[in-house]
Amino acid sequence: MSVRVRFAPSPTGYVHIGGLRTALYNYLFAKKNGGTYLLRVEDTDQTRYVEGAVEGMIEVMEWAGVPHSEGPVLRDGKIVELGDCGPYIQSQRTEIYREHVEQLLASGHAYYCFCSKERLDNLREAQKEEGKTPRYDGHCRDISYEEAKKRVAAGEPHVVRLKMPENRDIVFTDMIRGTVTVNTAEIDDQVLIKTDGFPTYHLAVIVDDHYMGITHVVRGEEWLISTPKHVYTYEAFGWDAPTFVHLPVILNKDKKKLSKRQGDVAVEDFKKKGYLAEALINYVALVGWSPEDNQEIFSMDELIEKFSFERVSKSGGVFDLDKLNWVNNHYIKEAALDRIVEGCKPYMIEAGLMTAEELEVKSDWFAQIVDLMRERFNRLMDVTDHMALFMEEDVTLENDEAREMVEMEHVPEMLTVFASKIEAMDEVTPDALKDALKEVQKETGNKGKNLFMPTRVAITGQLHGPDLNKMMSILGKETVLKRLATYTAK
Ligand code: GLU
Repeated sequence: MSVRVRFAPSPTGYVHIGGLRTALYNYLFAKKNGGTYLLRVEDTDQTRYVEGAVEGMIEVMEWAGVPHSEGPVLRDGKIVELGDCGPYIQSQRTEIYREHVEQLLASGHAYYCFCSKERLDNLREAQKEEGKTPRYDGHCRDISYEEAKKRVAAGEPHVVRLKMPENRDIVFTDMIRGTVTVNTAEIDDQVLIKTDGFPTYHLAVIVDDHYMGITHVVRGEEWLISTPKHVYTYEAFGWDAPTFVHLPVILNKDKKKLSKRQGDVAVEDFKKKGYLAEALINYVALVGWSPEDNQEIFSMDELIEKFSFERVSKSGGVFDLDKLNWVNNHYIKEAALDRIVEGCKPYMIEAGLMTAEELEVKSDWFAQIVDLMRERFNRLMDVTDHMALFMEEDVTLENDEAREMVEMEHVPEMLTVFASKIEAMDEVTPDALKDALKEVQKETGNKGKNLFMPTRVAITGQLHGPDLNKMMSILGKETVLKRLATYTAK
């Protein structure tokens, strides 16, 4: 039997970083086993409908580089479906769920419940006061199917509930947690069809996973608690349950569940700041999974080769932004320069540093800066923090130590010699500048720190920075001479 797995997000308007990891682990497992990875949209909760959310989700997953081979995709901005098990959008499958719930009602595995919201609220309150876990008390369990049908036909509001057997151990195996046993005394009679006629997630997920041929349900740990119900629902339908794999939650550095309040959690947020897709994927793969050795940088192919659920931890994985930044910085340095330059441009425009036209006209100049400075970017948006040196007229000395550097006695004469060499150049290339500095060393006898530090400070105002010759070459003859002139002999 070939592996079939799915990512089944609810379209909430953004993809949580934990969702991306779930999708990725599903994808890696499918690829490793020559199986199929599909996308299913779980939008049965119509109260949470968000315009454009499905399209957004498809786009983000495509951007991230976790492509599905079945399910909804975008073609010219429109949703079309790939695969033979569709529709893959739950709101288009309501008829299927209704037919299936009929089966469960007829076989006595489900029942109509007519309890009013008010009754359920009171029940919950009373249970809470008694210190009990709120749960349905089975009030409608014994209404006969015939009588219930009549009440339904008469238009009485109702839901349909799963009829859990009394006092039975439900047992299943999870690839990460091992054997899990839960007694039905702990399990509520789950609502399968809501008053609005829509199925709940718990019904839809079973019907869909069955008809979509899902072999492994790989999802967040928050669903572990619902799995016994699901296992029983499979039994009620007379179907085999798939294998379950529950992934540990993603935690903040303070070991709390990663939440929006403490920073970015949406893949879209990371994308907007200039995290590269492969960096996000590489990092997210490591949150909860660890390879056998200490490797930290992985291409998608390497992840596919090395990934296994055996090495996914039971305890939560910690999301470490510093580590993500380190990984992203690695990919920014490795990527094709063109791609990084293009990726940086929107941040320049947004910050009002350059217009699109200026970027066009000075594209070589901008590319040289990005090439020189990108080793310092954790994110593409950081480009704007490194432009002042190249764009501002005046150089500001960063501190007293910098001032001392340019106030050393030998500096005016030394920089005068250097300036005269630059004057004589047609073009200030890094190589020509390097040679010129060598000559300055020979002629003035200043070397090492005494030579390079005052020069750097005169040009940049700073004690440290990127390759000085490259930087001067980008600044150009005129600017370099102007900056040196502040400190040359008068
Ligand atoms: N729609 C559920 C979610 O968004 C999917 C859970 C599952 O994979 O079964 O978390």
